[in-house]
Amino acid sequence: MDFNDSPEEATYRAKVRTWLDANATLRDPDASKINMLDEAEGDLIAKAKAWQAHKTKEGWACLRWPKEFGGQDATTMESVIFGQEEGRYDIPPSIYGIGHGMLGPTIMAHGTDEQKERFLPSMVKGDEVWCQLFSEPDAGSDLAGLKTSAVKEGDDWVINGQKIWTTGAQFCKWGMLVARTDTNAAKHAGLTYFIVDMEDPGIDIRPIKQMNGASGFNEVFFTDVRTPDTNRLGAVGDGWRVAITTLMNERSSIGSGGGGGAGIKDLIKQAQDVEINGRPGIEDGGVRRKIADFAVRRSGLKYTGQRGLSALSQGQTPGPEASIGKLVAAIMGLEMGAFGMELQGAAGVLSGDDSLGDPTWQQTYMAMPGLRLAGGTDEILRNIISERVLGMPGEPRIDKGKPFKDIPSGTAR
Ligand SMILES: Cc1cc2nc3c(=O)[nH]c(=O)nc-3n(C[C@H](O)[C@H](O)[C@H](O)COP(=O)(O)OP(=O)(O)OC[C@H]3O[C@@H](n4cnc5c(N)ncnc54)[C@H](O)[C@@H]3O)c2cc1C
Repeated sequence: MDFNDSPEEATYRAKVRTWLDANATLRDPDASKINMLDEAEGDLIAKAKAWQAHKTKEGWACLRWPKEFGGQDATTMESVIFGQEEGRYDIPPSIYGIGHGMLGPTIMAHGTDEQKERFLPSMVKGDEVWCQLFSEPDAGSDLAGLKTSAVKEGDDWVINGQKIWTTGAQFCKWGMLVARTDTNAAKHAGLTYFIVDMEDPGIDIRPIKQMNGASGFNEVFFTDVRTPDTNRLGAVGDGWRVAITTLMNERSSIGSGGGGGAGIKDLIKQAQDVEINGRPGIEDGGVRRKIADFAVRRSGLKYTGQRGLSALSQGQTPGPEASIGKLVAAIMGLEMGAFGMELQGAAGVLSGDDSLGDPTWQQTYMAMPGLRLAGGTDEILRNIISERVLGMPGEPRIDKGKPFKDIPSGTAR
């Protein structure tokens, strides 16, 4: 295992830094690290689109994508290096993670030539943002249990139902939706995958207010929405296979981030800034032990992540690192947020405009529960690790092979 850049990687990193130095400003390390996107932040969306357009013009967008679709044919490591370096600069929060990381690769794998030509180059440029319409009130971890229906009428499909937790739907032009097209088929077999124009009549997007004040995701209702058959991605009834391509790309893109939020240095600074029993908090043995514990866990995460990167750099496919990384990082992030607030004492209960200290702790604390759910909950990740890594027996399945309409459910099929 070699965690250092190879000579070629070091040269590439230097080239990336030169470009970023000339085109962006280094981020203030003391600034809050969690960005809250919501529908009121149109300005932030405009800035994100402008940055993406600039990267496209200068040849730094969607590096790993093939040139024919607007990418740069770069290696995975080059793309990782660009992401690491870009994160050090003061750039708008990305609104393209889902499109570029998950949906674009799905179109590349399953789309017709016309679909690739129509959708991929504009997705790279970023003028059209994409969302993922998978989860429903009764179908999250058990995604194949979804009930939104699509019925063929002439050359169109008519879609009815409800999606939920749809990140960014309020500013997206396109969505990728999985719908049930056959209730007589078994659960996974009766699904079909569609590209949907989010401006079509019959689509009602309702932002959900989160506890941190932002509205990052939405409920999306479909009433007799007509989508042309030319927007079907993959064969009728093959939607689960297409969705798996999206989900595989989701796991690898979420897992590599290490959780975001505040770092150990922020915690040390917070402990230095407060007083405990008349002395700087950092001199308190209990505080020091706790920070040391976080630092040890953060190191474990760092090296687990680097093991994955090292495998990528050598052309191998990373194993379960992505699942382990997200599982540990999100739980630890929540604990660090709670400890940061505790160090602030009574002021720790204040957040947003009322905040008296560093607001990172409150934001971290409120963002982490979402990270523990998105892209696979803690329990689902533990199931994956136990079954696919440790080889333990799988969960009992009572629905296998049964027609979907015969599977017991609390609500109508
Ligand atoms: C920040 C955020 C962004 C999201 N963005 C999107 C998006 O853009 N598009 C989209 O389609 N979805 C999105 N989601 C939804 C996300 O995919 C689901 O929240 C996730 O799959 C869990 O589904 P659920 O919320 O329905 O919970 P459920 O599946 O109902 O789970 C409820 C609880 O039961 C546990 N559980 C469920 N099954 C098992 C099992 N087999 N064994 C043990 N425990 C189990 C879970 O771990 C959880 O604790 C987002 C979610 C979040 C939090």
